[in-house]
Amino acid sequence: MGVAKLLRPDLVLEHVTDLTPELAEELGVRGLLIDIDCTLMPHGGWSVPEEVRRWLRALADAGVRLHLVTNARRKRSQHIAASLELPCVARAAKPFPWRTRRALEALALAPDEVAIVGDQLFADVMVGKLLGLKAILVKPYPGRQAISTWLKRPFEWIVLWWFGDQLKTGTASTPSGTCQSQKTSARTCPQNERQPAQESDPPGPPPSTPH
Ligand SMILES: [Mg+2]
Repeated sequence: MGVAKLLRPDLVLEHVTDLTPELAEELGVRGLLIDIDCTLMPHGGWSVPEEVRRWLRALADAGVRLHLVTNARRKRSQHIAASLELPCVARAAKPFPWRTRRALEALALAPDEVAIVGDQLFADVMVGKLLGLKAILVKPYPGRQAISTWLKRPFEWIVLWWFGDQLKTGTASTPSGTCQSQKTSARTCPQNERQPAQESDPPGPPPSTPH
């Protein structure tokens, strides 16, 4: 498999919640592996925004099997997974496929029925491609990122620029309507139409080292 195939997402979305149950069905996605940091919530957070919780419930209600897969540390990952009542593989070491494969096996679906969604080309998309999954790239939540992630971002921008019009972008539903889909970047949807819930982190466990 060429490097380009390892790094080219099947779909690019503005936000993880743009992967609606209808779009998942259209894509033939019956199972979804989901990154946590910068995908479900701002990096290092302990609480999942309510709009994301609603999205997860909608997918589950539609019969999509869900599994978290994160490179983050176990303690915070388990806290988040428990709050969502979802299974989770922590410290997955994406893009290496071994631990992510465990999550895929837990879904008990064929690889071509499963998508992985995440914010990093060199982790989420790459591991998805190595395992034969559909790979969906989302724009990272704004805010701080792990230094290792921050260092990789310029290379991601170069790769995405290089793919250019080859990238398929998806429908981005917003509270005020639906942005243009297919070949016109969902990333152009007005940011002010999307207001990620700003929940404060609960008292208790301190933030862990960024991953
Ligand atoms: Mg991430």
